[in-house]
Amino acid sequence: MELDYSKPIEIAEDIFWVGYKIPNDPFQCHVYLIKNDNESVLIDPGSMITFPVTMEKITSLISINQIKYIICHHQDPDITGCVSTLEKLIPRKDKFIVSHWRAKALLKHYQWETPFFLIEENKWKLFLKNGRILDFIFTPYAHFPGAFCTFDRKTKTLFSSDIFGGFTEKCSLYARDENYFSSIKAFHEHYMPSREILLNALMEIEKKKPEMIAPQHGSIIKKDLIPYMINRMKELNCGLFLLSSYESNIEILLKVNQIVNNVFSEVINNSDYLTVLRKTFSILKESGIPIKDIITYAFNKRKNNREWYGVFSAIFGEVVFEDFKNNKAIIKNLIEGITKPRYLEKIKLITDIIEEQEFVYAIPLNPKNENLKACVYFIMEKELNEKYKKTLEEALDKLELPLSSSLANEILIKELGEEKKEIYNKAVHDALTGLKNRVFLENIAAGEVSKAIRYEYPISVIMLDIDHFKTINDTYGHLAGDYILQEVAKIIKASFRATDYVIRYGGEEILIILPYAKEKDACKRAEHIRSLIEKQEFTMGNKIIKITVSAGVYQRKDETDMAKLIAKADRRLYKAKDLGRNRVVCED
Ligand code: GH3
Ligand code: MG
Ligand code: MG
Repeated sequence: MELDYSKPIEIAEDIFWVGYKIPNDPFQCHVYLIKNDNESVLIDPGSMITFPVTMEKITSLISINQIKYIICHHQDPDITGCVSTLEKLIPRKDKFIVSHWRAKALLKHYQWETPFFLIEENKWKLFLKNGRILDFIFTPYAHFPGAFCTFDRKTKTLFSSDIFGGFTEKCSLYARDENYFSSIKAFHEHYMPSREILLNALMEIEKKKPEMIAPQHGSIIKKDLIPYMINRMKELNCGLFLLSSYESNIEILLKVNQIVNNVFSEVINNSDYLTVLRKTFSILKESGIPIKDIITYAFNKRKNNREWYGVFSAIFGEVVFEDFKNNKAIIKNLIEGITKPRYLEKIKLITDIIEEQEFVYAIPLNPKNENLKACVYFIMEKELNEKYKKTLEEALDKLELPLSSSLANEILIKELGEEKKEIYNKAVHDALTGLKNRVFLENIAAGEVSKAIRYEYPISVIMLDIDHFKTINDTYGHLAGDYILQEVAKIIKASFRATDYVIRYGGEEILIILPYAKEKDACKRAEHIRSLIEKQEFTMGNKIIKITVSAGVYQRKDETDMAKLIAKADRRLYKAKDLGRNRVVCED
């Protein structure tokens, strides 16, 4: 049901909204009246802008002389602007301005005739005729040092003044749903000095268990929405946390807030920097900013001195261009030249996409990583009008943080990925020979066999063992043995394709897995190595050492696991040993 804002609206028993809906103003100021015989209470009476209408509404309910108390939650002009006029219109002498001494210290300068009723001197309570009791809740610094709220015990209505206030694009006396929080957020971020101060106020308010909250700005919150709003407000960063060169135009503020909030939530939901950039692009576009592309350059000088450069475009994705390396210096300058968000008159972006751009905003990123330098360029389709210029400038100022953390995250993941790879590589290689080890074999064994089965290609294995290696060790020493092992590994490695796996299976046993190889070919390869090693002269100091190897070869028939293939090749290796060594055996 549409409310008739031209009349007083009863929000709870004998409590009336008597405000004036200011046209096209996101900063609505509400006035409430507690109708209580000749002890009626007017709450935050308002300014001279709203006063004529408020006056009309009050007098439609009571005679003006029935107002005994005028509560001023603090001394701002939108609360007290009308009091000098108002007090003259109330003939009775026993009327009071209800306030905190900190407000009185300032309000006395208006030289009102009406005396003060100081809440702290009256035990934070006001007893009214007919048993109505008002409690005052001290909420210091939210947002004035002497700020407080008023709680009506009878209806459990909290008159919260600035707390729970909101900037509302369309004035609605009641908050419709959870979305009202975005209005609260925009308001509190600017008006509340800090999170701690707001938290303290919320805790004091919660103790009263209010069932309706009637703020001076924004919308009234009904019972079912109160816990939601309080919980969200407890997480809110405000005031000191957000100090900036904030714009004073509320419409722009709202837009900027929306843009920044949306980008923040993208950063939280996506770890991928490019996705965040793409979303930022859409968010800006949806806010009406004629954006053409977002381009980011980044370079990362890493520990191992390898450099990583990237150029991304929100429209085109990762951009690779031919003479990228030659442009390193230019990119470096481009990035280092920007130290804070700013508008660039003209910029030559060295990508294939954009030659010369006139309307570019640049913001440097600061991902808290000194090796990383990055900059984001917001390319506009055309020159911005004043409104969008301000919106964008304010928004960009705030986007530096979320975009920086998204990039930092991305780099971290990239580096972690590479570190992981390094660790994995170490784990699957044998330190002495550099060949793959048993860990690696475990990782690929099942996969290699099942691939061969699925795609119906042959797979063979060679098990190779150095003959009388113990004697080599015993004769020439362990170091000589190590050296020979390393040399043998080199020879074998050089003789096989990249798709074959050469694995140090045991001490001086080497396993070679040959996908796609039939037994005949595998035997040929084994024989080739055998003869190479037989001919090789290993020199150790002034000694020349000669060795031989034996090998068993087997091609998969119907076996479904690698261990069986290895066992069969091993059996043939033993046969080679039995037959006198220095030979390759390809049958049982
Ligand atoms: P066979 O011809 O029957 O294979 O005789 P073998 O002496 O080669 O066989 P055995 O298995 O009895 O001995 C293997 C030797 O290889 C024992 C061990 O000292 C040596 N060995 C294993 N790993 C290494 C290594 O990393 N370095 C050195 N220097 N020797 C190793
Ligand atoms: Mg041996
Ligand atoms: Mg052995």
